Amino acid sequence: MNKSDPWAAFAEIIRDPWSKIKDIKAKTGKKIIGHILPDVPEELIHAAGAIPVAIAGAGIPISLAQAHIPGYSCSHAMGALELRLNGELNVLDGMIIPYVCDTTRNLYHLWKNLFPDSPCEFLRLPKKIGDSNANQYLKEEYLRISKWLEEITGEKIVDETLGSSILIYNNSRDQLRSAYHMMEISPSSWTASRVISLFESAFRIPREEHLTLLERLPWNVMEETGTGRSRIYVKGKVWDPLEVTDLFDEYGFTLVGDEIVTGKRSVAIDPTIQKDLLQALVDRHMSLIPYTGYHVDPEQMIGDFITRVENSNAQGVVFLNPKFCEAAAFDTPDMILGLKEKSIPSLVLETSSRGTSLSQIRLRLEAFKEILSDDLP
Ligand code: SF4
Repeated sequence: MNKSDPWAAFAEIIRDPWSKIKDIKAKTGKKIIGHILPDVPEELIHAAGAIPVAIAGAGIPISLAQAHIPGYSCSHAMGALELRLNGELNVLDGMIIPYVCDTTRNLYHLWKNLFPDSPCEFLRLPKKIGDSNANQYLKEEYLRISKWLEEITGEKIVDETLGSSILIYNNSRDQLRSAYHMMEISPSSWTASRVISLFESAFRIPREEHLTLLERLPWNVMEETGTGRSRIYVKGKVWDPLEVTDLFDEYGFTLVGDEIVTGKRSVAIDPTIQKDLLQALVDRHMSLIPYTGYHVDPEQMIGDFITRVENSNAQGVVFLNPKFCEAAAFDTPDMILGLKEKSIPSLVLETSSRGTSLSQIRLRLEAFKEILSDDLP
């Protein structure tokens, strides 16, 4: 690793998160809890004295998993199972899989059957976000998961620990929001690929350590005019393939907003420090941009999405849809129609390590850049 390059540490974490986590576990003796994205509250895991690590299945070459999971499962689920089967996740002391779609539900049952001795819990997130009972339901679900975490770590989650965990994560989100802003005002130094590497890596090492690494970045740079750049908004699950952010830089796209679960969506809302801290985590979840598998009134879902795109001042929208994700495939046509009515061009990239090449994505982004360039002053 190049120690004089402050960005290199983040790229290294993404390249090989598991070696780093093994080192940290050996040094600290802390329990490691893996979680599938999205929306497992990391603050709860942290408050129980463990280290949360997000498992990114996208981009993992598959060989063992296909014997256990249908070939039409998304790369996120398949890649996570592959990592467990090939031993990479042996460092984990526990695993949380959130209920966001049939695929994650099936993954949970598979996990329990294949690895009966390794602790795994299913976080039953409410599918109906606007439902009046969802609030209380989620609070009870967080309580249930808290007890499970306490059993693993032997540490009680009390107000003091949860409060300080929330503060650490709020601080981290604040820094990441600033980094996103830097990408808009200084895109030649704070490139999309560098800034997104900050977000992706934040989910894979202790946040305290990540905050220290962020301090070394060149925060005092001059504003640029950014002429000739096209403003885009991205919708999808994760930055898959991660190299797509290099292509955004190469073709002069500026990210002005996104709904990626390891992107701007993840830092948009902080839980407030209040008397009932569990309720603060519930409130945060309910205020997040709904993930693609959640049930929201269709008209409201489209209307809110268009409003967010318009508020971002984006010239165009790129959908990074995971291949074999039914929920994303179901929502996207209506969203495209809504964008068309507002004369906002969009591009749908269906991505997967199984079957989509970077050169195909490159070609389509190049063509999209030309469409957006016609709109430049
Ligand atoms: S919602 Fe889509 S991308 Fe997310 S886990 Fe389910 S199938 Fe995969």
